[in-house]
Amino acid sequence: MKIPFSPPYISQAVINEVTDALKSGWITTGPKVKKLEDLVCQHVGAPNTLCVNSATSGLMLALKWYDIGPGDEVIIPAYTYAATALAVMHVGATPIMVDVNDDFNISVSAIEKAITNKTKAIIPVDIAGWPCDYDEILELTHKKKSHFNPESDKQQLLNRIITIADSAHAIGAKYKNRHIGLTADITVFSFHAVKNITTAEGGAICLNLPKPFDNQKEYNYLRCFSLNGQTKDAFTKSKAGGWKYDIIYPGMKINMPDVLAAIGVAQLPEYFSNILEKREHIYSYYQDYFKTKSWAILPNYKSNDKVSSCHLYTLRIKDITEEQRDAIIDFISKEGVSVNVHFQPLPMLTLFKEMGYNIADFPIAYANFRSEISLPIYPQLTEQELKYIVDTVNNAVESCLC
Ligand SMILES: *Cc1c(COP(=O)(O)O)cnc(C)c1O
Repeated sequence: MKIPFSPPYISQAVINEVTDALKSGWITTGPKVKKLEDLVCQHVGAPNTLCVNSATSGLMLALKWYDIGPGDEVIIPAYTYAATALAVMHVGATPIMVDVNDDFNISVSAIEKAITNKTKAIIPVDIAGWPCDYDEILELTHKKKSHFNPESDKQQLLNRIITIADSAHAIGAKYKNRHIGLTADITVFSFHAVKNITTAEGGAICLNLPKPFDNQKEYNYLRCFSLNGQTKDAFTKSKAGGWKYDIIYPGMKINMPDVLAAIGVAQLPEYFSNILEKREHIYSYYQDYFKTKSWAILPNYKSNDKVSSCHLYTLRIKDITEEQRDAIIDFISKEGVSVNVHFQPLPMLTLFKEMGYNIADFPIAYANFRSEISLPIYPQLTEQELKYIVDTVNNAVESCLC
């Protein structure tokens, strides 16, 4: 059997919606993007959502919006995808990495120790779709107000460290009965090809800024900023008599095209009505199987406060070395099952090593990485394939550990 890791889910509804965009005579940012933004607001409950061309550029835009740049520090987990750190570096600020918990997510006590009078933002990352400790993080930003050093009008208005969630994995997850999107000041989702909802490439920024901010006003600003800071978008300009525009901000060019938004417009309602449920089903299939194995450490899925979006099934194997884990992966791959490791902690990657980070300073991130294998999880998987995956993983572990 050959089982891919994460093929995109493309239904007939997706093909119809994309065809509709192609035939409409309008292929870049326009009505489909607006519709996708409305759908995200409707399902997540966020006051405003802006779609952009990736989560990475969404994070950059959010950081720039809060006037974060050279000399500023942004606290991120050591255990994440590189984009979390790169977005900080692209705006000229310094990423400050901290260790994580056993549940893979950023440690609140580690954040507390890392806060200085240069800290401007915290970027929690909901690894695998498991929500971070948002209330504790927000509380910390209030507790540390006296250390906060506002240097712009927006920073003065919020008057604390901002929380910008990297929720690339977490659309559909919930924290204390609120959807992710309503749990940080700004939340960024990814619609990259491998994520729970895709537009091939894309991202969404949910605004949830407290008063006295006006989320609609900030949305309008960000929309304009994402289109070169131009007062009229191409869609408005294309109307008769609409040729004249002005450039009012040093904007970026990070808008989402309608052809891609169409994929998301078709997927999003289906995701909330049944794909998310299918992912949960696969998750519980794995949980039921692996909970009978003494060597397995099961990932988190549901607690009183949190519900995962089941983006990744992050299985861990007790007391194994990195080399043993790699041998298990080789065995599984030879049997035709594609698995992955999420993630290589950033301090293990050349760029960050050269910046002076050392994995020895992040022992929990390393322990999580060392023993982790991500199994396939997507709605197209059949019961027969699931059985083949768990049997293959079990054989691999048992033959590599003895
Ligand atoms: C995928 C991913 C991103 C980047 O998303 P893009 O839309 O590809 O820019 C950022 N952070 C994490 C944790 C991710 O997994």
